Amino acid sequence: MIEVKNLCKCYGDKKAVNDISFSVGKGEILGFLGPNGAGKSTTMNILTGYISSTSGQVLINGVDILEDPIGAKANIGYLPEIPPLYVDMTVDAYLNFMYDLKKCKLTRKAHLKEICDICKISHVRERLIRNLSKGYKQRVGLAQALINNPPVLILDEPTVGLDPSQIIEIRTLIKKLGKNHTVILSSHILPEIQAVCDRIIIVNKGVIAADGTASEIADKLTNEHKMTVRIEGTKRTTEDKNEIVSALKAVDGIKYVRADMEREKGVYDYDIESEDEVDVRRAINSLCRDKGWNILMMQLSDMTLEDIFMKITTGDITAVKADEKKKVSLDDFNISIQGGMGLDESAEQAEENNEIDSSEEGGDK
Ligand code: ADP
Ligand code: MG
Repeated sequence: MIEVKNLCKCYGDKKAVNDISFSVGKGEILGFLGPNGAGKSTTMNILTGYISSTSGQVLINGVDILEDPIGAKANIGYLPEIPPLYVDMTVDAYLNFMYDLKKCKLTRKAHLKEICDICKISHVRERLIRNLSKGYKQRVGLAQALINNPPVLILDEPTVGLDPSQIIEIRTLIKKLGKNHTVILSSHILPEIQAVCDRIIIVNKGVIAADGTASEIADKLTNEHKMTVRIEGTKRTTEDKNEIVSALKAVDGIKYVRADMEREKGVYDYDIESEDEVDVRRAINSLCRDKGWNILMMQLSDMTLEDIFMKITTGDITAVKADEKKKVSLDDFNISIQGGMGLDESAEQAEENNEIDSSEEGGDK
């Protein structure tokens, strides 16, 4: 559906986007996660034809955005970081205006009604946009992106600046839209992306640092790379400790060993780091068997995606590519998602009440 190849964007000598490649399949909800300044908006602006790339290629549904911008853009609904709203228009006038601008051929009345129903803005259609709450403005922005029913939706930080109940509301809406659209959503907030997306691309300093499901990314970085092993030697003295450290260091694939505290009488924990992609657990096992040592505990370091994100964005880790074929559900990943999705109905109700309660000082009636 979307194919991005070796995309680069320079501002002067600054590389805002540096050789980014990825593809997004039909019906996927892809999260673009990265700290401020990572290059998310720049990438999205190129994907949607708002700005041109310095080099690289973007294909939307097989259509090159540079060769046929109108054809490519017909496939995309875009909600930029700052929604392009004309605040002195009513919601209805604005959506009709956007309908004309996009030269939409679908039946006007029915199509706009459907979009307003999906975005739950039917009851504010006659209101001036400037008098709407931020959450409602965002929904109008989303409604605008849905005009012409594009197969691809690109949403840049759609929940930024919203309160928690509005955030849940927009998340729920995006998930719903994900059933019928390919969605790319950006955020600098991890739980945001985790709550909504099937797949995550972590960008940092203009490059892709990780690509995969949450569990794939976590697996890739945690499994086998770092572990703690508690080994009982034969003498149960510090002599054991030195011997065990040297023997572990000699194991193929182990690049770092450190003896930790004495955990049981004469028994130490050893922090072990292995080369990427090398699983050293079996080798440690057979070493201990040969030496007559006992493994009393073996624990893989359980980094959360939060830890990984922190590590990537603070520069401890540079790049991870997850196995393309492996599909694991987000639920497999053991992180609590902020703001339970079960709250959506009440959150929605609360916002609706707010909307109804807020006075009409702007005089749009
Ligand atoms: P993000 O959306 O991930 O926060 P951006 O794509 O907005 O990041 O920005 C990426 C980098 O490019 C930042 O360092 C930003 O300062 C720089 N940048 C973005 N737009 C421009 C511009 N028009 N001129 C110069 N530098 C820019
Ligand atoms: Mg941005």
